[in-house]
Amino acid sequence: MRRPFIAGNWKMNKTPSEARELVGELKDMVSDVDDVDMAVCPTFVAVPAVVDELEDSDIMVGAQNMYWKDSGSFTGEVSPQMLTDLDLEHVIIGHSERREYFHETDREVNMKVRKALEKGLKPIVCVGESLEEREEGRTEEKVAFQVWSALSGVADEDIPEVTIAYEPLWAIGTGESASPEEAASTIDSIRDIVEDISPGAEEKIRIQYGGSVKPHNIEDFISRTTIDGALVGGASLTAESFAGVIKKCQ
Ligand code: PEP
Repeated sequence: MRRPFIAGNWKMNKTPSEARELVGELKDMVSDVDDVDMAVCPTFVAVPAVVDELEDSDIMVGAQNMYWKDSGSFTGEVSPQMLTDLDLEHVIIGHSERREYFHETDREVNMKVRKALEKGLKPIVCVGESLEEREEGRTEEKVAFQVWSALSGVADEDIPEVTIAYEPLWAIGTGESASPEEAASTIDSIRDIVEDISPGAEEKIRIQYGGSVKPHNIEDFISRTTIDGALVGGASLTAESFAGVIKKCQ
């Protein structure tokens, strides 16, 4: 049985003090939740304040990105050891905004996934089709390629440590979400790919839906057995709405 996993991606929002305030409120609101895995992914600079504030909470902390090298002359980058040193457990890899605005390729996503796992971080790998690809009927082909690329060279025993976030690009931050049927069908196709890569892992790997998830629609997604939770953007930016999403998954 896979535990539901709700992760909040704050993107480039919240100063360190605002971040501390948000999780200070959130941890009280979800203190009675014990059957859902919860994580927030602040900006790098807000991570120490959030880790400190959540010391006595079950809410985990993740990063939104990392580099695939251990250290060195890579101005502006952050290594996986810097994240594990702060006790982070998760790292989002290959978010569509990184792919689009920072030209992150499938090869780079794969290198980051492998390095994260090597260092004991659990990647949340984002995949999803554009509106154009969807209209051309190429959704499954696109996400299959992204999943194959991301998991290439990953050891069988590490695959269940990965979470895949299926996020149709046209549903991110638009207020328009995929229908639960569409999301479940694409996620089933992702499970088939995972089975081809590592038979049996499709039962263990967690696959989230992401794209305009809110307290009022999360139940439509989480009620599908193949959907294990959500990667939440906008609705993770207030304690009330993020707690609302989490509580509906109990
Ligand atoms: C995201 O950025 O991963 C996301 C799903 O955003 P939103 O929930 O705002 O659509």
